[in-house]
Amino acid sequence: MSKKTALVTGASRGIGRAIALRLAQDGYNIVVNYRTSKDAAQSLQTQIEEAGGACHIVQADVSEFDQAKALVKETLAAYEGLDVLVNNAGITADGLWARMKQADIDTVLDVNLKGCLYAMRYAARPMCRAKSGVIINISSVVGMTGNVGQVNYAASKAGVIGATKAAARELGAWGIRVNAIAPGYVDTDMSRQVKEEYRQAIVDSTILKRMGKPEEIAAAAAFLSSDDAAYITGQVLVVDGGMVL
Ligand code: NAP
Repeated sequence: MSKKTALVTGASRGIGRAIALRLAQDGYNIVVNYRTSKDAAQSLQTQIEEAGGACHIVQADVSEFDQAKALVKETLAAYEGLDVLVNNAGITADGLWARMKQADIDTVLDVNLKGCLYAMRYAARPMCRAKSGVIINISSVVGMTGNVGQVNYAASKAGVIGATKAAARELGAWGIRVNAIAPGYVDTDMSRQVKEEYRQAIVDSTILKRMGKPEEIAAAAAFLSSDDAAYITGQVLVVDGGMVL
């Protein structure tokens, strides 16, 4: 059986990097997308290749329709197929709503929501042709609960959940499964932007009394990618240490 291929957006750092590493360990050819962190993407490629895996890196801003299209095209050219798409690329631009700048609304929706939609749009056709495929969209518990200072981010992540369910309904007929993961508070560059006292308050309110590790989100992505999840679609898997229970 030929190797399967997984494309992970925003895989140069954090959760995306952990997902790329885990899927490489599970035997997938990996396409690592990054936007600005070229050195980090190259070091990930080296790490995967030194462990015996196959990895291709592609620079693309997923919030640009044409670049998302080119990203999927380059994936298909590199490995002749796309079995798993993980829409992970994401940003925050937090602030109180009454003072939020238009740019902070637009960029967060553009990257987190439109980036996910664009990549799904272009991945859908080759997956339909293959009559199989897995799409995993990284949402957030904030898309389910909301959060002070994150109206723009919560809207983008709630949108990702709606898009996941709609795409699952539409693409299921072609054997394509579409699910979302809603992480809680995970130790990455993104969460390190939050003030220390606020971070501690979140940890204190989490049942397991700690932040999540990127590898723990990657394990959920590996499960949803696998045939063990063959009858799971349209779902949101919350991986949050009990944060929003
Ligand atoms: P991170 O450490 O800040 O990494 C973000 C990644 O996204 C980087 O690889 C970055 O690439 C990439 N990226 C950003 N904008 C992009 C664009 N326009 N096109 C392509 N790639 C882009 O963030 P993280 O914490 O790992 O977050 C990953 C995902 O998990 C995000 O969707 C986030 O919303 C979600 N999430 C995170 C947490 C958490 O607590 N950390 C919780 C819930 C959900 P470059 O460095 O190359 O620009």
